[in-house]
Amino acid sequence: KEELNMIQGALELRTKTVQGIMTPLGNCFMINSDTVLDFNTMSEIMESGYTRIPVYEEERTNIVDILFVKDLAFVDPDDCTTLKTITKFYNHPVHFVFHDTKLDSMLEEFKKGKSHLAIVQKVNNEGEGDPFYEVLGLVTLEDVIEEIIKSEILDE
Ligand code: ADP
Repeated sequence: KEELNMIQGALELRTKTVQGIMTPLGNCFMINSDTVLDFNTMSEIMESGYTRIPVYEEERTNIVDILFVKDLAFVDPDDCTTLKTITKFYNHPVHFVFHDTKLDSMLEEFKKGKSHLAIVQKVNNEGEGDPFYEVLGLVTLEDVIEEIIKSEILDE
């Protein structure tokens, strides 16, 4: 029965989109690039429990970097380093995908291994002004796998 479920989940990867499974922007744990890495912010980051944290400049829709929590290993909270210094040093690429990307292509992208987290965006051409890229949320390999096995993966 479970196997049948997984087969069905796998078959549905071709029709479902990343927008349907992403974590919406409003629920994303993110940090402003100007943040000073003092004891408080470092504790907050640790307590969030996330491995990868999008870094934004000015507005939450403007994601410019990804912080890996392990990047903080050599940061001394007493030095009051700014987050920018760290993200500039590690310079992890930010991986963007379009909202209508199907889950099978998303899985292939993740398998290539550059990053297991992608920022979901769409071209917004509603309204008067010029079209622009609008960030909608983030999606990870875990979200795709959950669609295949059709159940929640509980974090440690
Ligand atoms: P982690 O390794 O940080 O636990 P996973 O890739 O295992 O992240 O994803 C677990 C779930 O958490 C997924 O649903 C994913 O969309 C979500 N997620 C990952 N990073 C963040 C973040 N920074 N803020 C909010 N949700 C996130």
